This record gives sequence, structure tokens and C-alpha cells, in this order.
Amino acid sequence: MMALTSSYFDAGALVGVLTTQPLDRVLDYRAPEGGCHLGAFVEVPLGPRKVLGVVWGPGKGDYDISRVRSVIRVLDTAPMREELMSFLTRAGDYTLTPMPAMLRLATRAPGLGDPPSMRKIYRLGDTDPERMTDARRRVLAVLRDMGGLSLTLKELAETAGVTSSVVKGLAKLGAVREEDSPRDTPFPTLDPAHAGKDLTDDQATASATLRGAVASRTYGTTLLKGVTGSGKTEVYLEAVAECLAQGRQALVLLPEIALTSEFLMRVDARFGAKPAEWHSGVTMTDRRRVWKMTAQGGAQLVVGARSALFLPFRDLGLIVVDEEHDTSYKQEDGVLYNARDMAVLRASICDAQVVLASATPSLESWANADAGKYARLTLTSRFGAAVMPDMHAIDMRNEKLPGSSWISPALQRAVQRRLDNKEQALLFINRRGYAPVTICRACGHQIGCEHCDARMVEHRFLKRLVCHQCGETKPLPTVCPSCEAEDRLAAVGPGVERLAEEAQTLFPEARLAVLSSDMFGSARALKAEIETIAAGGADLIIGTQLVAKGHNFPLLTLVGVIDADLGLQGSDLRAAERTFQLMRQVAGRAGRAEKAGQALMQTFQPEHPVIRAILSGDEQDFWNAEAGERRAAGVPPYGRLAGIILSSTDVQEVFDLGNALARNDAPLRRIGAKVFGPAPAPIARVRGRHRVRLLVKASKGTPLQPALMDWVAPFKLKGDLRMAIDIDPQSFY
Ligand code: ADP
Ligand code: ZN
Repeated sequence: MMALTSSYFDAGALVGVLTTQPLDRVLDYRAPEGGCHLGAFVEVPLGPRKVLGVVWGPGKGDYDISRVRSVIRVLDTAPMREELMSFLTRAGDYTLTPMPAMLRLATRAPGLGDPPSMRKIYRLGDTDPERMTDARRRVLAVLRDMGGLSLTLKELAETAGVTSSVVKGLAKLGAVREEDSPRDTPFPTLDPAHAGKDLTDDQATASATLRGAVASRTYGTTLLKGVTGSGKTEVYLEAVAECLAQGRQALVLLPEIALTSEFLMRVDARFGAKPAEWHSGVTMTDRRRVWKMTAQGGAQLVVGARSALFLPFRDLGLIVVDEEHDTSYKQEDGVLYNARDMAVLRASICDAQVVLASATPSLESWANADAGKYARLTLTSRFGAAVMPDMHAIDMRNEKLPGSSWISPALQRAVQRRLDNKEQALLFINRRGYAPVTICRACGHQIGCEHCDARMVEHRFLKRLVCHQCGETKPLPTVCPSCEAEDRLAAVGPGVERLAEEAQTLFPEARLAVLSSDMFGSARALKAEIETIAAGGADLIIGTQLVAKGHNFPLLTLVGVIDADLGLQGSDLRAAERTFQLMRQVAGRAGRAEKAGQALMQTFQPEHPVIRAILSGDEQDFWNAEAGERRAAGVPPYGRLAGIILSSTDVQEVFDLGNALARNDAPLRRIGAKVFGPAPAPIARVRGRHRVRLLVKASKGTPLQPALMDWVAPFKLKGDLRMAIDIDPQSFY
């Protein structure tokens, strides 16, 4: 028989409360006066403190009953649904993350326990003031135009073009009414029937299929594949429309906050209002509003970063993961989860649909579609006149280039043609900063970070050297720190800033825009710059990886890749896949509107199979070959991997633990898994901590997580030793 958990606890009943504190168990408390629901958000005493928790089930009763304390209060917010409780538990089991850390992910909004926060709003009063001034007249006119609706002080003063004291004065006279109103209000209603575009046949077929899937109110995942510009967004917005029409909520995940502004406009055009936003650029007050409104159903559509997956949706019916191949969906510190995979897990628990959209899907998703686990929809052509750009290699072995310059004569000519035609060109290099290496010409010393095994990267824009591992910066030295020779330090190799310098010298007339994630103080500034460029505010764009991510530059007709070979170096399992995706994404920036585009890739190895696959555009061949190699090696997606990263300030200690783990691997051998290492991590020291890696390899379908737990459990971490377990590691640094 199945044991049914009661969903309500009477006053005084024993309840188990999961808190956000790092404890390894659920604690017993007594339900407060009036009782509480399963999933209720509560405040409980813990030692001398009050902490946030969730009623996770009945109490265990294994704690001295006379010492069990009472829940202090139940917070004024909807209880966590069993769907979310179950999602957190299973995601925690999968990623081997302790539950308090999972709960913290689900409560990342401040002041959840505070009484509803209020703000002053203003509407038209009943009397006109005796003395009328111009300013006063403007305020009253604005309010009259609002037809009974209210405004905040700031909105009203700004719209009327007056200082806030004018409004305050009118309020005192009763000509304007001042009222308290809750801050956390529902988002404007989205209308699924507002204004869809006329879809092409291809798009119409795909959207009908997705609509049908959403209407079924069951779980399913669809890989929506189509070149950049083929209308994937248009198609999945139809799935969103169906979801809203069903009265359910939808979530769209985007890999990059800078992408949201364009997306918000498109939602506004399609549904007549903007959705709720959830990402690091959103203020704390707005975060709380989004959190509360997803729980109450006052947010129909949320667009956000990966952590939006942990919002307390009331009835989630659809999750779209746009640019699903993007590496930023994997969280690389704290809880190590992959939002794409977790989206599939959550959807399967709450009977929702998942749409994974990409022009260049990950091999994982490609294999799942091939195996029939995911449905597949493909949009074959670009919308309207736009076609995929022409792709060519520039064989750098034949180009004459002086030292310390990177734009080949062939590429220069191509850029010049675009400038002459008043079209935009983009030069792409996947490296931030000015130069990756600073070397002393006198002694050969390379300037490194004191805390990491990494060279410091010159950022001329910041006028500093920066460690890309730990973020440490220092001023550009004029004297070599090793031999003390003066003025002999030289920059070696190109970064995006140096490329911009070269481009400006070659094309002095061109208006340059440099797009690199570290050059913008805020997401807002970056958004603004992207909009300016899209509107034609620059002739030549110099950019890093940032430009590969779906921005729309309609005037762009040429993409020049400075170093197509860059990503192929190194031993990363996904080097070929990543290079293939990145090059195709970057190339896809060109020719999105009426004019045909061209992509030119500078390479020293045009005959390399990956470069050849990129140029030929024969994706199926590339994926088949790549899948074949991975299958033969038994690595993801045809086998399982887990990374163990040990770190400590004491190098001996990390290696001792690593060796001990490798020797005592019986729990792993029992499931046929193998452990490799310990080996120094590719970056063997970060922030002064020595890092050692072990890699566990198992075949698909083995119960890897429990075996890992059995394996590491006997080892207690002494001193400042730390261990992180990374299931399905994406990066190997
Ligand atoms: P993707 O998401 O595949 O890159 P988008 O959905 O962004 O493609 O479409 C590319 C461009 O073409 C957008 O500006 C979009 O508005 C436009 N577009 C796509 N399909 C249609 C359509 N059926 N009618 C009008 N415009 C469309
Ligand atoms: Zn460092």
C-alpha cells in the first residue's frame, strides 16, 4: 500500500522542516497555532536565530520530544507545491547537492517573510486647488488622462514634468489622492490571441505540432532545430500562446541577459504586454514580485536565466530552452546543475512540455532525438529572403601578414567592400582583453597571477592586468617583476581590444563598436550598445563570444573569424563540438535581412575535419562522425562521467586524498565504473588553492550517484580540504 502523506498538520502536530541552513537533516518542530500545510513556508527558531524553512513532511519524532520547539509563524505566501518539492529532491539527488542548498535556489528573493511591502500611489482627488499654477494643471491633466488609474510619485512627476513637491502639495490640498498600494502586484495580462504573424508553411506545421503537445497537458520534449533566422522564436511563441490559452504558465530560458530586451519587445508585439523578467540584472524588489507572482499565478510568462527554473510556478505548462547548446546553462559553481537537463526533469514532474531550440543542438540533445526520447522539429530555411551565409576559409599559410597583426589582406579587402557599400562587418575573436600574454623582452618572464597558475591578461580598456581565473587585477607594470628591466614588457597575441586597435588603424573612417562582456558596467549598458549597433550605429563590430548569441544585426553582411583554430586546441571532450557550434553561430550573424551574407574563417589548417565540416555545412556528417567517436570512447552522451575536484591550500593534502580515493574504489568497481587520476587540474592552482581532479567513467544506465556517495562517504574532509562532485561535467578546467 502507498503511504499517503497528510497535506495538513493540526496545531501542535510534529512536522519536519527543511531549512536553508547547512544542516544534513530535516528538523522536527511543532505546527503553530492554526496548523500548517505541507509545503508551508515558515520561520523556525534555530539556536538563538530565526531561519526560513519549508514544512517538508511529518516530523520523525527521533528528537527529545520535550525539547521540540514550535514553528514561529507561517509566512504569508502560497505553500510550496508538491511538484516543486519533488523537483528539488530529485534534482538534489541527481547533482548530489544537499537539500538546504536546493532550497536556497528556490528561495532566492529577499524578504519573502516580510509583510506585503507597500508604496504610495496617486490618483485624481475630488476638489480643484484654489490657486492653480501651470505645474499643478499639468499634474491634474496627466491624472485625468489616466482615467481613474494611478501612478507612483516618480511616474507622475516625470510624466507631468514637475518636481515631486508639486504632487505632494496637491495631495495635501486633496486635489490628488495619495493611497497605499502593495508593491507585489500581478504582471499585465498577456493575450494569446493578440497578434500572431502569418507563418510560413514550415513554421505553421511546427507550431501546430507544438500547440498540440502543449494542449495535451502531458510531458514531452521537442528539439526545435533550425538555422538562425528560420523563425524558431516565432514558432515557440505559438507554443507559449497555447500554454497561456490553457491557463497555464510558461517559462522561456535565455542564455544571455543581453538577449532579453529584444525578446521582451517580441513578446510585447505578440501578446500585447511584456512578461516578467528574472535574472541578475533585476532589482531585489522586482525579484520578490516575480517570485510571489509566479506562485500566485500573477505572472503568466517568465523570461529568465537558468535559475528561473526554481521559481514556485503555480501551474507550469511549458519550458523553452533557447540556444539549448549554450554552455552557460551549466552552472559552474555552487550547485553544479545543467539547466537544460533540469528543465526536462521539472517538466516531467509537472506534466509540462519542453522545447529545446537551437541552430546547432548539443550532441546530447541530438542523440536523445535520434533515440526517440525527444521529438524533433526542423525548420529548413531562413525566413523571407535571408539565406545562410557563404562560408570560406582564408588559408593563413598563404597570407602575408606582418608580426603583431591579425587581419589578413584577404579579410581586409572583404571588410573594405562592406564599408564601401555601407553595410556592416563583424570581426570575431574569442578572447577578451588586449593581449593574452605579457612577456619581458629582456628575460623572457611572463607575468602570471600570484594566486593561480594562469597568465595575467592585459586589459588596456581597464588599464590593468587581469587574471581570468580569480579576477585579481594589478596596474600595468613598467618594470619587469623578475629582472627589473625597464620598458621591456611586450604584449603577445591578440585579444579583442588589440584587434580593435588594428582595425581602427586599417579602417580609420569606420565607426567601431567593441562588444566584450567585460567592457560594460551593466546589462543595461550592453543592451543599449547592441540596440545602437542593430540600428546602424556602427560600421565595424569587433566582438567576442558575446556576439555569437542570437543578437539580430540586420545590416550585417560579413563575418570574419580571426582564429578559427583557437577552440580546437586543448583536450576538452567537446572541443570539436564547441568549435563547430560557435563557428556556425557566428557565421549565422551575417545576412539575416535581405542581403546575402558571407563568413570568412582565417585558419592555418583548412584541411582539419572540423574546419571542413564547418565550411561544407554538412551537419549530419559532422554529427555522425562526432557521435561515432564518442560512442567508441564510451563518453557522453554514450557513457557517463563525473568529475571530482579536490582543492586545498596544502598541495600534499590534496594529492593524499586523491590517491586514497583512487585506491579505495570498490563501490565504483561494483557498478563497473572506473576512476582516472588523481591528476593536477588543467589550472592547477586557483586563488591560492591547489586543485586535483579525478574522473569517473561509467556506462550509460548505471546507478552512478549512489555509488559515488558510497565511495566518498568514508573520507572526512580535514582542514581546508574541499571536494566538489560535478555530474556530467561540461568544462574540465
Ligand atoms: P530564430 O529564432 O530561428 O533565429 P526568429 O524567430 O528570430 O528566428 O526569426 C528571424 C526574423 O524573421 C525575425 O526578425 C522574425 O521576426 C522574422 N520572422 C520569422 N518568421 C516570420 C514570419 N512568419 N512573419 C514575419 N516575420 C518573421
Ligand atoms: Zn588569479
